[in-house]
Amino acid sequence: MGQLESFNPATGELISAVETLKPDQVQAVVDDVGEVQPFWAQLSLADRARYLRKAADVVVDEIDEIAELLTREQGKPITESYTMEVVPTIDVLHWCAEAGPKILDDEPIRMGQVLFLSKRAKFSYEPLGVVGVIAPWNYPWSIPFDEVAMALLAGNGVVLKPASLTPLLGERIRETFEKAGLPEGLVRVVHGGGAVGGALCESSARKIFFTGSVEVGRKVGEICAKQLKGSVLELGGKDPQIVCADADLGNAVSGCVWGGFANSGQTCSGIERTYVVKEVAERFVEGVVRRVGQLTVGDPMEWETEIGPMVSEDQFGVVGELVDDALDQGAERMAGGPREVPGFSGRFIAPTVLTGVEDEMRIMSEEIFGPVVPIIVVDSEEEALRRANDSNFGLGASIWTRDRAKGERMARRIESGMVWINDHSYTHGACQCSWGGVKDSGLGRSHSKFGFYECVDVKLISWEPGMTRDIWWQPYDRTLGQALRASARLLYGRNGQRFRALREGGVPLMRVGARSLRKDR
Ligand code: NAD
Repeated sequence: MGQLESFNPATGELISAVETLKPDQVQAVVDDVGEVQPFWAQLSLADRARYLRKAADVVVDEIDEIAELLTREQGKPITESYTMEVVPTIDVLHWCAEAGPKILDDEPIRMGQVLFLSKRAKFSYEPLGVVGVIAPWNYPWSIPFDEVAMALLAGNGVVLKPASLTPLLGERIRETFEKAGLPEGLVRVVHGGGAVGGALCESSARKIFFTGSVEVGRKVGEICAKQLKGSVLELGGKDPQIVCADADLGNAVSGCVWGGFANSGQTCSGIERTYVVKEVAERFVEGVVRRVGQLTVGDPMEWETEIGPMVSEDQFGVVGELVDDALDQGAERMAGGPREVPGFSGRFIAPTVLTGVEDEMRIMSEEIFGPVVPIIVVDSEEEALRRANDSNFGLGASIWTRDRAKGERMARRIESGMVWINDHSYTHGACQCSWGGVKDSGLGRSHSKFGFYECVDVKLISWEPGMTRDIWWQPYDRTLGQALRASARLLYGRNGQRFRALREGGVPLMRVGARSLRKDR
């Protein structure tokens, strides 16, 4: 065993440390959770929901401590720890408790076909067993928390692997469910780097819920595919914002500032490209530059702070490199750049607005993951759509217009998993909405009924009351063939065919019908 230390990105202070595992110890943890999970799975959905409500009570009781830990360990402004992480998870727990039992309850299937009239069937949603959740550092509380909560409600046990930069929040998730009275050992946390995450994928965990980079997500998907087990991959994004000429401009400006700079831009579904039509471009750029100049960069523990430190020196470096590359090739920085904050050793970047960017620049195709928004002026909405879709990513996108019908028409043409009209990204906090992307942004969905379906095996259970025997059972003979041909024409044929079917197939149909009453043949 080793130690993983957790540092405050604003001050560099050591907060605490956790014990790490060696990769070859991960399977034993999965096995241990597998010992506990069957008991949990035996509880009814309503009982499991009760535990989730208790977990919500625990989060409410400890809301300040959790928010503070979030800001200390990840660096986001304390206000965002409440708005973007802790408060939504309380709501998620209540939604899961309320909606989950309805979504995952046995679901009768309507069987209208004449041949199956006697039969009854239903979907039964069965827990997978033990699942793995591998988490990123940018939303280290809400992303894994929601996935763990949904997996638990579905009857699974969970092994959680938090990001190495935010291990304490992972521990806190486990503690929250333990304090809510869930069986000890049903949620376990394994710490370590990529090798421990890899070992979790290789283990007997039945499915992996991975959130992180495209590069690692691809590896995770490959390992799972080799084992013929599923994975949900929530990967990177390069979300476009499209501002139409008829947009409420003040709102579009404020939306750009929130969508682009919240969490210092370290958001998978943050605005990474803004396409604004030329009619309103000047006013839009002016507005964004003015508003970002008013944002407070500094101590994330202060309520007024709007931009905290970058999570790490590395992340600071990645963002700087992309911005410098764009500037070198002729982009113009209208606002922002690296910023010293007196008394803090952390790496801060003031909200940065770039214009004059070209599609060939790295910043237009690679994920920035920092407080930088490139604004591109386009001739038309058509051009905006084309350029928005010209990306390997497809997580989210937003369209800003006063015309709802137009917004929806444009939304359907965008290649992404989510489109918000006159807002951006907020639905991660609304668990009834699906979350996930297309193209390199991932596979599968979290949240919503689709997220619950990812947490279960769908089992079909069918019941035959046995009053008759199926007509397609042996013996096979000409009569059966004629009857089946007639029934196909009777049921699905055009008018003339039906009449002929009745004339030619009436007798075989009656014979087969009579045969179906003799069950021992
Ligand atoms: P990352 O891919 O580096 O790491 C994610 C997790 O995977 C970490 O826990 C890490 O330890 C683990 N890991 C690393 N190598 C592994 C391996 N070989 N096998 C298994 N696990 C391994 O990502 P990150 O830097 O923590 O997070 C930032 C990325 O996450 C960005 O690309 C961002 O867009 C993406 N993200 C996506 C969503 C979404 O909902 N789509 C949400 C948040 C973040």
